[in-house]
Amino acid sequence: TRSILLNERPQGLPTDNTFKFKEEELPGLQEGQVLLKSLYISVDPYMRGRMSDAKSYVPPYKLHEPIMGGVVAEVIESHNAQLPQGTVVLGNLPWQTYSISDGKGLMSINPDLAPLSYHLGILGMPGLTAYCGLLIICVPKPGETVVVSGAAGAVGTVVGQIAKLKGCRVIGIAGSDDKINYLKEELGFDEAINYKSTPNIQNALAAACPNGVDVYFDNVGGEISDAVYSLLNNFARIAVCGQISLYNATSPPMGPRVEPILLKTKSLMKGFIVSDYADRFGEAAAELAGWLQEGKLQYEETIVEGFDQLPHAFLGLFKGENIGKQLVKVAEY
Ligand code: NDP
Repeated sequence: TRSILLNERPQGLPTDNTFKFKEEELPGLQEGQVLLKSLYISVDPYMRGRMSDAKSYVPPYKLHEPIMGGVVAEVIESHNAQLPQGTVVLGNLPWQTYSISDGKGLMSINPDLAPLSYHLGILGMPGLTAYCGLLIICVPKPGETVVVSGAAGAVGTVVGQIAKLKGCRVIGIAGSDDKINYLKEELGFDEAINYKSTPNIQNALAAACPNGVDVYFDNVGGEISDAVYSLLNNFARIAVCGQISLYNATSPPMGPRVEPILLKTKSLMKGFIVSDYADRFGEAAAELAGWLQEGKLQYEETIVEGFDQLPHAFLGLFKGENIGKQLVKVAEY
């Protein structure tokens, strides 16, 4: 198998040297084990956190061991009656072309239900994050104004579309004109702002949100969020989902204090990790799949081919190279 290991803990933005490729022979299977062929491997912003050894909600990756994450794989040899050859599974698995598993934590996927890659995106972790963060924390009401940052990514595209389904005015913030056009033309966002080319985001947001902001779904943090806070209405709800603009920071991020605004507007701000809502995943996945089938949700993914592209696909998240969910296709099913 070919693997990608964490070679060193990055300072700031990871580089090629963060990763190391390794080739090795896998041992034979023992009773209860399966041999998996990786089909799609997910790259996700949270992986940056696991590359550092700071304390967080998931333990850090170990140095010189394979990076782990969401993988869709096919069982190609089985010594486990629960997972016969040919089964397709979703699991938290190593960045390897092939891997051995005892089957624990693997979820079987029905390949006829949806394209296999969707289980790492809209029907998987990012889709559930969007659904739970927006509907459980923010509870958007018809007519309210919803702002989402990181709007053209895996989570943001789903957040904005669900908010539209709930009858809200939706404003997205993203980093290229292609993304802005996509949000407005394809996904039906009411307004979208390119934070990289707009000289004053706060003015642009104020113009796009004449009635203020009731819900802010924050994927990026930093100065983009500072601009949104100044527009909060009374009883606004803010889901702090991600802070990607700060993940590579090498010193503590500074900014204006938000507490006086929260106090004056009596707003609710809540950080969350999608696994907090595991008891709601069944209903969330069913509703997302239903909306998808009915054509009420559009879904986009950026798929690069080839296992060796994993590091670059991951680094591309921090440069905004993806529209929708970024995946690496490793093998044909
Ligand atoms: P995306 O598909 O949105 O990819 C990341 C995007 O972030 C890029 O495409 C880029 O788009 C944008 N970005 C990168 N750097 C910056 C920056 N400095 N400032 C502003 N935007 C930036 O990733 P996901 O949808 O998977 O994740 C979105 C966020 O949600 C992340 O912060 C992630 O950590 C978080 N998350 C949290 C979960 C939870 O349980 N709380 C679960 C899943 C994700 P652009 O071109 O617009 O810059």
